[in-house]
Amino acid sequence: MSAQVIIIGGGMAGIKTAIDLLNAGVTDVLILESRDRLGGRLVSVPSTKNPSVCYDLGALWFHDALINPLYAKAKKLGNVRVFYDDGKHRVVSESLASVPEHDIHAIMMEMRAFAGLLYSENPLLPDMSVQQLSQLYLERQRSTLTEHQMKYAPQLLRMWDEMWGGVLWDKVSVKQAYLAEGEDHVGRNAFVCNGYRTVFENELNELPESFRKSRIKLNVTVETLDYSDPTCVSLTTVNGDLYKSQYVVVTIPFNALSSAKPMLKWTPALPQHLALVFSEDTRGLLGKVILEFDECFWPKDIHRFYCLASNDDPSGEPRPWKHPTLIVNYYAMTQIPSLVFLTQDPLSSQIETLSKQQIWDLFKPVVEQIATGPIERPIGILNTPWNNDPLTQGSYTMARVGCSSSSDICGALAKGVNKRVRFAGSETWAGSANGCAHGAWYSGEREAAYIIDQIRGIGKSRL
Ligand SMILES: Cc1cc2nc3c(=O)[nH]c(=O)nc-3n(C[C@H](O)[C@H](O)[C@H](O)COP(=O)(O)OP(=O)(O)OC[C@H]3O[C@@H](n4cnc5c(N)ncnc54)[C@H](O)[C@@H]3O)c2cc1C
Repeated sequence: MSAQVIIIGGGMAGIKTAIDLLNAGVTDVLILESRDRLGGRLVSVPSTKNPSVCYDLGALWFHDALINPLYAKAKKLGNVRVFYDDGKHRVVSESLASVPEHDIHAIMMEMRAFAGLLYSENPLLPDMSVQQLSQLYLERQRSTLTEHQMKYAPQLLRMWDEMWGGVLWDKVSVKQAYLAEGEDHVGRNAFVCNGYRTVFENELNELPESFRKSRIKLNVTVETLDYSDPTCVSLTTVNGDLYKSQYVVVTIPFNALSSAKPMLKWTPALPQHLALVFSEDTRGLLGKVILEFDECFWPKDIHRFYCLASNDDPSGEPRPWKHPTLIVNYYAMTQIPSLVFLTQDPLSSQIETLSKQQIWDLFKPVVEQIATGPIERPIGILNTPWNNDPLTQGSYTMARVGCSSSSDICGALAKGVNKRVRFAGSETWAGSANGCAHGAWYSGEREAAYIIDQIRGIGKSRL
């Protein structure tokens, strides 16, 4: 079995690569996808209350709303309902149903500014974690802070950093989180009400039906990639099938490529420029728990609840209030009585092994804290599967303290293995779309352009 271009993975990056190749007249393309479905980390589950509202297990927001090409297409097609859920919110803790936020938000912002100051005064200062930064800040600023600020401001900072990458604040890199240039989002975040699946299908529909039927192979897991022959690349699958190709685009999530149990074995071993980034732990472990209820018994108009943790020790068994969480109030956006909790390492992985009852026991005290009346049991409980899934092994990459920066990781991946073996995927795209669905889309666009140039001979100088 052979093709001019083989794309490993049928998520957003793989589909966009194929679209652009086909549009440029490169039609001998195959997509090999391990799962029995396309979309990768874009999975939407319809609500039982109203199937036109979906819960997204992967991407949920259009980030970079001012420049996001997926959002622009959705607006043009008019088939995606969005809501800007960055309005009314409430900060909650185990002891306070509403933590006065006005004076802790300013302290959180000052802690971030403090990071900038520290490193501008001493650029050689080694990287530190967000937790270390907050301790240093409190030591220096203690005399200017109230008890309330000392207690809650670091926890608010922690909540934001842990909810972005799913990594605990004692591992989140200050340099990465606050000092990396070009990573601020351009525009707000738009919540997708009817499921990111529609956004994915908007892309998929650009592939001709004949291609979708005959050139996308589901249930094909690529196991080895051999690039020792300079004229072609050989792939073998777990079933022992052999595929040969002139160009291969690997869109397997970087976490699954670089882990201790990698999805792909390389012959020969990866070149030096990739070996370093593949050896680092860059796993982000964001997860979600979705609780659907019969009735809404919490404030209907609050978009999000920011729940602060009760202590700094995240080790051991999961228990309520041990980790911060951000709750998305679906009722405010969709009138469906559901709450979606974001989770982080190690809770996201632990939850995947818990029973539905154990999950409810974990979040029930938090639900009680935001309730305005008697609480009910959920009629449905869903959780994300990404962290123990060998095809993802986390949510997306998140550079940790002391690791290469995400732009260094992207820089190494964007060079590919060589001119024939390329990487696409959201983790290969630097800047504000890194790790995002539209970053995956941009990366597919980049790799298709590269291969088209090679085939047309324009890229020969880049060899
Ligand atoms: C919990 C969570 C929340 C998120 N929230 C957002 C958000 O709000 N907004 C946003 O923009 N992004 C978000 N993202 C990120 C977004 O979902 C991803 O960046 C994007 O979907 C990645 O697309 P991709 O094509 O790069 O990778 P994937 O979607 O992972 O596609 C890779 C494909 O490769 C396949 N594959 C893997 N190994 C093999 C193999 N050996 N052989 C064959 N096939 C293989 C996989 O099955 C998969 O289909 C979130 C992700 C998670 C997990």
